[in-house]
Amino acid sequence: MSLLALSGVGKRFGALSALSNVSFEVEEGAIFGIIGPNGAGKSTLFNLLTAIYRFDEGSISVGGVSIAGLSTQRIARLGVARTFQNLRLFGNASALANVMVGEHLILGSTIFDSLLNTGKERRERAEAERRARELLRFVGISGVEEQFARNLPYGTQRRLEIARALAARPRLLLLDEPAAGLNPSEKHELISLIRAIRDAGTTVLLIEHDMGLVMNLCERIVVLDYGEMIAEGAPQEIREHPRVIEAYLGAPA
Ligand code: ADP
Ligand code: MG
Repeated sequence: MSLLALSGVGKRFGALSALSNVSFEVEEGAIFGIIGPNGAGKSTLFNLLTAIYRFDEGSISVGGVSIAGLSTQRIARLGVARTFQNLRLFGNASALANVMVGEHLILGSTIFDSLLNTGKERRERAEAERRARELLRFVGISGVEEQFARNLPYGTQRRLEIARALAARPRLLLLDEPAAGLNPSEKHELISLIRAIRDAGTTVLLIEHDMGLVMNLCERIVVLDYGEMIAEGAPQEIREHPRVIEAYLGAPA
C-alpha cells in the first residue's frame, strides 16, 4: 500500500480549474518531486493535502485512510507535516519555541498554557524541549535556540521551518520550494538534509523550481501544468518528455 494515494483529484476556484484529474501514488521511503511552471497548482495540491482547501473531486488517502473531510490537525495526526512557500514562523518567538509549536500540534497537550505546572506537564515540557534542541541540531542550526525567529538569516529560517515540521514526527513531509532564495552552498546542504530526513524514515514530497536539485534528489517526479498532470516518471524520463520540454520551453516552432 502506498503512503499517499491521489485519484482523480480536482479543485476549482470559481471558474478557474486549479487542479484536475490528478492521480499518483507515493511509496513509503521515497523522495518524490512535484514540478511545473508558476501557477501550475503545486501549492494548491499541498493545501488540499493539509485541508487548507477541500478538494472538489476524487480521493486522497494517507496510509490507506481517506482524508476527505478531515481537519488539518487530524491529517497531522495521520503523519502529514509541511512547510510553506512563504515562511510562516512566529517571528517574535524563539527558535526553540517555534519548534515546540510543531510538537504541540500533534501532542494536543497543554504545554503552552501549563499554568497548572503539574509534574506530568513539567516532564512533558522538558521532553518536548529536549526533542526541539535535538531537531535544531539535526537540521544543522544548533546555537540559535534562544534567538527570535525573525532575527535569523533567511537560510536558517528555512531550516527552522523544516525542524518545526519534523517536530510533529511526520511519516510524510511536504516541502514547498525549500530551496527558494538559498545560495548554491545552502542548496547543497539542503540536499544532504533532505536525504538525511528520508534516511531517518520520513517520506518526502517536494515542490521545487530548481530543476538541477529536483533531478538530483528525487526518485520520481510528477509534472503539473495548468492544473493537469502532464507527466510522471523517473528524472531521466521527465527530462526527455516532450510535453515537459514544451511546458518549460514553449512549443517547438
Ligand atoms: P503553483 O504553486 O504551482 O505556482 P498555485 O497552486 O499557487 O500554483 O496556484 C494555482 C492556481 O490557482 C493559480 O492560478 C492561482 O492563482 C490559483 N489560486 C491558488 N489559490 C487560490 C485561491 N485561494 N483563490 C483563487 N485562486 C487561487
Ligand atoms: Mg507555489
